[in-house]
Amino acid sequence: MTQDTTSAAQKCIFCAIAARQAEASVVYEDETVVAFMDLNPVTPGHLLVVPRRHAVGLEDLDRATSAHVWSVGHDMARALRRSSMACEGINVMLCDGEVAFQTVFHFHLHVVPRYAGDGWTLKAETQERERALLDSDAQAIKDAIASTSR
Ligand code: 5GP
Ligand code: ZN
Repeated sequence: MTQDTTSAAQKCIFCAIAARQAEASVVYEDETVVAFMDLNPVTPGHLLVVPRRHAVGLEDLDRATSAHVWSVGHDMARALRRSSMACEGINVMLCDGEVAFQTVFHFHLHVVPRYAGDGWTLKAETQERERALLDSDAQAIKDAIASTSR
C-alpha cells in the first residue's frame, strides 16, 4: 500500500470492521472478503461485501479480488433468498464514486433483499438514444477495452 492508502485505511470504518476492531454483524468471512449487515439498511437483511484490503473503487481493485467479491455477493444473495427472511427479490448494487452515491470510500457491494411494498424506488428519466450515438458510445468503450491492461 502507498502511504496515502495506508493513512486512508487507518481512518476507514470498513477496514476497522474487516480487522474486527469495530463492531459489526458479520455474516461471512474468508481471507479475502468480509460480509456484514449494513448499519442503516434499505430493507431488513441488507448486507455489504467488502474486500479486506483497502480499495476505494473499481479502479483500485485487482481482478481476482473483484471476482471473489462478486462471487461472494452472489452467494449472499442466494443465502438471503433461501433464508427465513423470505425476501421476494434481490438488488445487487455497487456505488463507484461520489456521483454514483458512494459515501464510504472502501469498495463494497450492496446486497439488498426486496419485499413487495418495501417502498424503495430507483427513479430515472430515460429516453431512447439514437443508433449513431449508441454506436459511438460502444466504440469509445471498445477502444478502452482494447487499451486496458488487466
Ligand atoms: P455507499 O453509499 O457508500 O454505497 O454505502 C455505504 C453504506 O455503508 C451505507 O448503506 C451505510 O448505511 C453503510 N455504513 C456506513 N457506516 C457503517 C458502519 O459503521 N457500519 C456498517 N455496518 N455499515 C455502515
Ligand atoms: Zn478501508
